[in-house]
Amino acid sequence: MKDISPGDLEKGLPLVSKRDAAHKTVVNVGTHAIGRSNFTVIAGPCAVESQGQIVEIAHRVKALGAHLLRGGAFKPLTFPYRSSSVFELREEGLRYLKKAGEEAGLPVVTEVMDPRLVERVASCADMLQIGARNMQNFPLLEAVAETGMPVLLKRHFGCSLRDWLGAAEYLLKGGNPNVVLCERGIVAPHTHQPASRFIVDLQVVPAAQEMTHLPILVDPSHSTFRRAYVAPVARAACAIGADGVLVDVHPAPEQAAVDPLQALGYPDFERLIQDLRGICKVVGREFESSLAPR
Ligand code: PEP
Ligand code: MN
Repeated sequence: MKDISPGDLEKGLPLVSKRDAAHKTVVNVGTHAIGRSNFTVIAGPCAVESQGQIVEIAHRVKALGAHLLRGGAFKPLTFPYRSSSVFELREEGLRYLKKAGEEAGLPVVTEVMDPRLVERVASCADMLQIGARNMQNFPLLEAVAETGMPVLLKRHFGCSLRDWLGAAEYLLKGGNPNVVLCERGIVAPHTHQPASRFIVDLQVVPAAQEMTHLPILVDPSHSTFRRAYVAPVARAACAIGADGVLVDVHPAPEQAAVDPLQALGYPDFERLIQDLRGICKVVGREFESSLAPR
């Protein structure tokens, strides 16, 4: 795997690289700023399952301290088959998500997978997620860049930091500076075992911070794929200096339509938020939402 050379930073990553040690971008999503001295928690179900479900979750995670609501309407599911228990609500789900965010007062982030649907998804979201599988889908990156909207760019599980920053450079070059990186686990020879589907690359947080001014989050849910590991990895992400975490939360985690093994129920999420508040104090970050003046 190639390392990032000084030539890459200058010629391949001129917009993504830091000008100096203090250079840091703040991405405003609705009324919430990501990447200032605050820590951001994005929470919600893997998939939007019904209007009632997403509205209820939005109110609950907001009350517990989340800053942004997540929920998938278009899902990159491993198998092409859908059933009454495994499904995606697509456009219907987008409408429910928008309503839930408005009712609870939370900006929403959701995945877009198809360049043809970027405008449609953008009309219902405050931030667009590029999923791990699409990190190097360059036409999609270009279409998303054109919206100028905040983007959550997940790292592909087989890609280096060099590849990841290269994908971010496409967004910035496309005229969109509002990019937030999200680590979600990488594959290694011993992964895809029950206890290690992916390996969370926590050291990529300081590594990225050395090179780029873009904020960086960690997704302890999709990286560990295992409920018991989500809170420990989220706490570690906060301690290592990430700008936030993205956590799957579901009222009945075992019954979630997608990713039932990793979602946290409300009591676990509440405990995690308490822990994160404590860690934030130690590492010198605020927990509360804040809109940064540009
Ligand atoms: C998700 O966030 O729901 C998702 C599918 O993530 P990833 O692209 O990291 O697998
Ligand atoms: Mn998921």
